[in-house]
Amino acid sequence: VALSNPGVQLLQPYQAGKPVEELERELGLDEIVKLASNENPIGPSPQVVAAVESGLAGLTRYPDSNGFSLKQRLASRFAVSPQQLTLGNGSNDLLEIVARTFLREGTEAIYSQYGFIVYPLVTRACGAQGVEVPAQEYGHDLQAMADAITDKTRVIFLANPNNPTGTHFSNQAFDAFMARVPDSVIIVLDEAYSEYAAAIDTPQGLQQLSRYPNLIVTRTFSKAYGLAALRVGFAVANPVITDLLNRVRQPFNVSSLAQLAACAALDDEAYLQRTVAVNAAGYQQLTVALDALQVDYIPSVANFITLDLKQDALPVYQALLHEGVIVRPLAVYGLPRHLRVTIGTEAENLRFVAALKKVYS
Ligand code: PMP
Repeated sequence: VALSNPGVQLLQPYQAGKPVEELERELGLDEIVKLASNENPIGPSPQVVAAVESGLAGLTRYPDSNGFSLKQRLASRFAVSPQQLTLGNGSNDLLEIVARTFLREGTEAIYSQYGFIVYPLVTRACGAQGVEVPAQEYGHDLQAMADAITDKTRVIFLANPNNPTGTHFSNQAFDAFMARVPDSVIIVLDEAYSEYAAAIDTPQGLQQLSRYPNLIVTRTFSKAYGLAALRVGFAVANPVITDLLNRVRQPFNVSSLAQLAACAALDDEAYLQRTVAVNAAGYQQLTVALDALQVDYIPSVANFITLDLKQDALPVYQALLHEGVIVRPLAVYGLPRHLRVTIGTEAENLRFVAALKKVYS
């Protein structure tokens, strides 16, 4: 085939975790514990389930392409205006919309080593050059990222907290970085996990928007709001950038059920609080167990922990799978000795720890 964009040939297909049912069939096990995709372990909010059920009668109609009600809810919840909002089919969709809006052949996007894998994917798919900056202690080296800016740089992708390392940066480091970035460079602050890190010294992007006209903050309903299956996220930026993103966005990119569910999820504050509390307790439970087993891990402020096994992690991943516990190997991130485990319920965490104890010592 004739490819006009040679970047497409460099793409590695995204490796998503297999569905639990498929693994159960493959392994002949009944109770698989899936701690592989940073999903919310407590199940959906009952209010969300009711909202989705109420939408079933309307399946023959297209969704509201402009997401009027959801934008109203988001605007009042986060003290922004609807003109600052772009809705996405998950936040991955928004990352791709940003790339399609600002990148093409001859331009560059900067991201960190061990940064989220979708950044190189969307960059190369647009024919742009990806510039990967070495990490510092597994996290973003913001100074080095600012040093990497050239006159071809159009976008810098930052994940805070970062997946797959769970690292974050401080307010002071972010301000120092932003002071060095020209307004012509778009900064994407990917806050897929920010709800878990609300109480620490780290930038909350929505509070930074008035200071930086070149900032785009992306958020998702897939993690703390528990709606990964429905695919819904949002970007917040100034109205000029938002207008551009909404021109590039596909019409009807967020389904009506997803819009209804997201509205209901925003109304259920107690669910969000329970999620964050379960996660904090799970982090404590897991790190105590890992310390006891003398397994090294990267301290995390998100809903997962990345373990450093100091040896090829793939056999341990396979052995855990045979114990019915699925975690995420990280060789595609250049971390072949690490495994990422999503923080689960107390019972799921116990299953993981027992399996790890059995297969790794
Ligand atoms: N950003 C980061 C850092 C992520 O880890 C993820 C999920 N793996 C996403 C964005 C995308 O999530 P979604 O498309 O479900 O919103």
